[in-house]
Amino acid sequence: MAEQKFIRTCSIWRALGVVGDFATLLILESIWQGARRFSEIQTRTGMLKALVSGRLKQLIANGLLVKVAYSETPKRYDYRMTEKCMELYWTALMMLRWEKKWSSGQEKTSVQLTHKVCGHVFDPVPSCGHCEKEIFARDVTWDEGPGVGWMAPSYSRRRQGEGRQNVAECTSLFHEIAMVTGDRWAGLILRSVFTRLRKFDEIRKDTGIATNILSDRLNQLVDNGFLYTHAYQDAPTRYEYRLTDRSWDYYPVLLMLLQWGDKWYASPEGPPLLLNHTPCGHELTPTVNCSHCGGAIRAGDVAYELSTVAEKPAKVFAE
Ligand SMILES: [Zn+2]
Ligand SMILES: [Zn+2]
Repeated sequence: MAEQKFIRTCSIWRALGVVGDFATLLILESIWQGARRFSEIQTRTGMLKALVSGRLKQLIANGLLVKVAYSETPKRYDYRMTEKCMELYWTALMMLRWEKKWSSGQEKTSVQLTHKVCGHVFDPVPSCGHCEKEIFARDVTWDEGPGVGWMAPSYSRRRQGEGRQNVAECTSLFHEIAMVTGDRWAGLILRSVFTRLRKFDEIRKDTGIATNILSDRLNQLVDNGFLYTHAYQDAPTRYEYRLTDRSWDYYPVLLMLLQWGDKWYASPEGPPLLLNHTPCGHELTPTVNCSHCGGAIRAGDVAYELSTVAEKPAKVFAE
């Protein structure tokens, strides 16, 4: 019998199976920014027609978009977000937050967020739904939940790098973060390291990623500053992978993806992972709050002002 690999059941994995793809993230971003029609999505993303078309079909099959006819003769369609897609909103805010803090792409494109409820410019803060304090990765412990288990990973054959050819000129707000979030393997590896699995073999076992791909992704994560190597043993020298400040700040992105995955892709038995917020001792239900008034942010509550170098600031993301 051929060796069957299994990976730890996880809502992050399932969420990444849906959105952990660079081309998909660019399409979602264009729709968040107001693109509705195929031609608009294609222009904004700068991707090939066939790639856009394929990803749109997947997004519809996964229940993130619906096609709505806006003209009968000839038949023409708009692409609209579903509720499920809208609920990725907090993940998107956490990606923006990371990008603002760490990306080298921010000189090109930046975004200012205004909380319509309090009327102030704000930063989105990942917060504990119970004590309302800011969430730091070091303050979160985890336990196996009722849905824990192992499953066969369904690695699709799509190429992970598709859509990346335009990154040099990419004016995406998720310039750099999408390189990591848009790569399911990178996301899975970080999940492992966040759950304190730091050695090559531990990560391999946890993720089911083939050795050569795993080496390659670990090197990339070291190169782009998400991980660093630390020798935990001499003669022979053995290394483990540790998180940098950049990746500690990436934690809220994974946390919001986990929450989204738990809601839409939970095992029938319940969530595979239970998180606890150490400062208050309660089960962690993450929210995203306004840095000015502290209120939880809802999708319709935010006005975005986008500025791109060499362009006048334009209002986008209009509701
Ligand atoms: Zn708390
Ligand atoms: Zn506010």
